[in-house]
Amino acid sequence: MSTFTEATEARKSELSENYRAIIDKINQLNPKVNLVAVSKIKPSSDIKALYDAGVRHFGENYVQELIAKSQELPKDIKWHFIGGLQSGKAKDLAKHVESLYAVETIDSLKKCKQLDNTREKVGGSEIKVFLQINTSCEEQKSGYNSEVLDDLEETVKYLLSDECKKLKLIGLMTIGSFSESTSESGENQDFKKLVEVKEILDKKYQLDLELSMGMSNDFEQAIKQGSTSVRVGSSIFGARPPRNAA
Ligand SMILES: *Cc1c(COP(=O)(O)O)cnc(C)c1O
Repeated sequence: MSTFTEATEARKSELSENYRAIIDKINQLNPKVNLVAVSKIKPSSDIKALYDAGVRHFGENYVQELIAKSQELPKDIKWHFIGGLQSGKAKDLAKHVESLYAVETIDSLKKCKQLDNTREKVGGSEIKVFLQINTSCEEQKSGYNSEVLDDLEETVKYLLSDECKKLKLIGLMTIGSFSESTSESGENQDFKKLVEVKEILDKKYQLDLELSMGMSNDFEQAIKQGSTSVRVGSSIFGARPPRNAA
């Protein structure tokens, strides 16, 4: 049923060496941190190569691409959806990605309910949820407001209620600003903000939320600041072409 050609031996070793190098860096800081290999725009053959080397957590950004890949790749892959979730698309994810492990970009109660209701209707397995927080307060970034927590708490309450059937709140996610991720000045203020929001919610709702923060540029700093799950793409798979390239 595989519809793609296997990666070359050279590509297989390159990928597993890159992956191993990231794991080594993680282990030096905190071996409990989960590594999600972000495979957006990269071919299924790359994912299969890492899968064969034992990797299970992969992150994807585009709904149609994730649906296609999940259908041609092994069913025990733990897919993380980490892309911007447009209204209506939550339904497609819930319906067509059987092995959807986590959605990390829930940023409204409406999308949260769409995901839950659809998953219940199709009878799929439970989906873990990270709520995305706009810690950098950049207008173009999605995510719940990190200063006024009302909307965020409304979603938390829904996720913890009996009304919610198929979703399990496990953590918070942030992307952070480019300037913070590239600044040399030590502590990342966006990661710090995410930790603050976690502490408020943990206390108020008796939770112990995970933190999905850190990418190729800044995952080591993120781990130092308490990240439990890092999302690394280009350092494993190589640079991506600009998405809208002709
Ligand atoms: C693409 C992407 C990543 C991976 O970024 P790299 O810089 O390639 O490691 C992580 N998180 C999100 C939300 C992304 O969109």
